[in-house]
Amino acid sequence: MASVPDSAEIPIVRTVAELRGRVKAWRAAGAVIGLVPTMGGLHDGHLALVRAALAACGRVVVSIFVNPTQFGPGEDFARYPRNETQDAKRLAELGVHLLFAPSAEHIYPDGFATTVTVKGMGEGLCGAHRPGHFDGVATVVAKLLLAALPDVAYFGEKDYQQLQVIKRLVLDLDIPVAVEAVPTVREADGLALSSRNLYLSPEERAIAAALNRVLAEVAARLAAGKTAGAGAIAWGLKELEAAGFTRIDYLEVRDAETLGPVETAARPARVLAAVWLGQIRLIDNMAVEPAG
Ligand code: AMP
Repeated sequence: MASVPDSAEIPIVRTVAELRGRVKAWRAAGAVIGLVPTMGGLHDGHLALVRAALAACGRVVVSIFVNPTQFGPGEDFARYPRNETQDAKRLAELGVHLLFAPSAEHIYPDGFATTVTVKGMGEGLCGAHRPGHFDGVATVVAKLLLAALPDVAYFGEKDYQQLQVIKRLVLDLDIPVAVEAVPTVREADGLALSSRNLYLSPEERAIAAALNRVLAEVAARLAAGKTAGAGAIAWGLKELEAAGFTRIDYLEVRDAETLGPVETAARPARVLAAVWLGQIRLIDNMAVEPAG
């Protein structure tokens, strides 16, 4: 393994003005600029986005901002994992060029009054169970994209509805940034990496792997066309219950792009789910890939 110098460091900026200053200089020097927005607590899923950015862009900014407006009352904002020192070290080791880590007061100063809503697409699935969540996401992502104005911004398929909301937002507001989707990084047993996995007990962790297994099986059943959509979903719901999830917010098949109801098998589809183990909410999704 390549040894990493202890001295690896990354510049950290905390204001939009400083961020813009750095990006302006890079752009003047002709660099392609990538942005990876995160809420920190970095794991290998986030780092896959960072690696994709570093492979394609001459200069890469990672943002870390635990965005209060995308958490509802009673959600886990207060206990969301925060470890900027460790995150900065990992980013420095990978060769990221800049960390943008603003305060909540900087992003939402007194008098802040604008909300970006992506209608329709942000309303079902997680939007139905987390009211206001995608307004918080769309607003902060619009701000981050406009602050950095990178050439490319990287988002994970893990948060599939979020990815589609952001693609729509960028299109609708003519934000001149290409959105790159990065496939979900998983543990060996299929569990999607998530900052929240840290909080699972060993028993819950064992159950959690069933989410990916059930999604894969539902997607395979839909792809094979053996059952109607409703049959595959009913089967999957029973399997999730039997596996031991304490609550199921949803298990649904949707159009992969519009997230609307699946009306024809001609268009790509996606199976998406959100489930609970005690206090921990897990989400995952899978492509329905028609055989042949
Ligand atoms: P978060 O810090 O949870 O807001 O995530 C920041 C970015 O990392 C988002 O674009 C997520 O979709 C992405 N991400 C989180 N977990 C994974 C994963 N397991 N695989 C790929 N991307 C991920």
